[in-house]
Amino acid sequence: HPRTRFAPSPTGYMHVGNLRTALYAYLAAKAGGQNGTFILRVEDTDQERFVEGAMDVIYQTLRETGLNWDEGPDVGGPVGPYIQSERGEIYAKYARQLIEQGDAYYCFCDKERLDEMKTLQRASNIAPKYDRHCLRLSKEEIAEKLAAGVPHVIRQRIPDEGTVTFHDEIRGDITVECATLDDQVLVKADGMPTYNFANVVDDHLMGITTVVRGTEYLSSAPKYNLLYQAFGWEIPKYLHCPPVMKDATQKLSKRNGDASYQDLVAKGYLREAVLNYIALLGWSPRGGAEIMTLDEMKKVFAIEDISKSPAIFDPMKLNFVNAEYIRRMSPEEFLSVATPWIRRAVTREDVDLSILAEALHPRCEVLGDIPAQLDFIDALPDYDLELFTSKKMKTNPAVALDSLQKIRPVLEGLDSFTVEAIHTALFALIESLGCKNGVMLWPLRVAVSGKQFTPGGGIELAAALGKQDTLRRIDIAVK
Ligand code: GLU
Repeated sequence: HPRTRFAPSPTGYMHVGNLRTALYAYLAAKAGGQNGTFILRVEDTDQERFVEGAMDVIYQTLRETGLNWDEGPDVGGPVGPYIQSERGEIYAKYARQLIEQGDAYYCFCDKERLDEMKTLQRASNIAPKYDRHCLRLSKEEIAEKLAAGVPHVIRQRIPDEGTVTFHDEIRGDITVECATLDDQVLVKADGMPTYNFANVVDDHLMGITTVVRGTEYLSSAPKYNLLYQAFGWEIPKYLHCPPVMKDATQKLSKRNGDASYQDLVAKGYLREAVLNYIALLGWSPRGGAEIMTLDEMKKVFAIEDISKSPAIFDPMKLNFVNAEYIRRMSPEEFLSVATPWIRRAVTREDVDLSILAEALHPRCEVLGDIPAQLDFIDALPDYDLELFTSKKMKTNPAVALDSLQKIRPVLEGLDSFTVEAIHTALFALIESLGCKNGVMLWPLRVAVSGKQFTPGGGIELAAALGKQDTLRRIDIAVK
């Protein structure tokens, strides 16, 4: 029975890589008919990075994308609390155990001393590493300092020699020399555990079977294994997901001003499409199909199909995936998602939004593109008569003027001003005049919109605007 977890730090932002990790952790529990357990654990022991309201962003993102957790801070579960800041006593107990075993030790070095040490190490080209100054303290010295309340941390005691090997599901076995590892801090001066300690204690106590996380933790994994060994705990499977890059050298990050999940949704990407695109950042689904809902992903996801190499976030591909989702919507679904975006440009109450939505639907890639395409609806912009010129449509301002003068009475005479009625009437006119369609329809489009390129043509726009406004716009053109 797989148990996986997503363990975000509440830093106020769910970047694309975070969501991708959450998705893979979810899928590792649920894919292939496994009814595994997906756990949400909040890693908030770094008080400096804590951002108010950040948990809400995490809850909301996971809910919106359908990554429902089975155990977590709000829903509870058998191995809580699921918030690390509430687990202080648990970490303290296990830290004491390590100290008693000789697998960890108190360190009273202050910042000044550590800085000096690092400077000297750098000067001699040695990678900065704690010099074990406090490992040499006697029992009495330690007791004295503790009693005097000297600030201290607890460090992991890495074995002096030998190697440690850990296994990553996609990278295989990785072996490192213990001598290269630092006696990392497990418990900070404020009594809070570091990530490096808490992740091991929690993953064990929460029964995590596969740890899914970013490659930034790969280099620390040997130290975690030494901790598992010190406790005599079974080591979980590891899946370190490839990083998500902005280009060949830069990681996607908030610092670089890159989009987060929330930013993408705010720009008019659909939640399902974002999740679908994010899934492909490092995963090549077998079978080759790329457009997949979460349920479909559950059917084909396999850890073996995750790639080692970094994935590049490709906005064009995201647009393509988003457009696919839009294309697959029924007219009603599209109207419902498009309406808030149409409303950013169209405040008039007398315009038929469903006609606009239908016109937008076939070419819409991102909902955020909608408002700019409808900037002529509330108010007709000033436009140059040269817009009536089109070689292809065989029109120019003079031809257009003549066409509009013929169109006007036909439209005025219509009782019903639907797309169909306008279409029938104008094509009858075109037929009776024996002219090209464009000679009539191009001028109508330009007259009602003041633009050459619009969602839908003159007929759809006229119907959306209504008879009165359409005639008014034609009058402005012919005046
Ligand atoms: N709290 C860590 C982060 O947000 C999670 C690492 C992990 O999944 O183990 O990066």
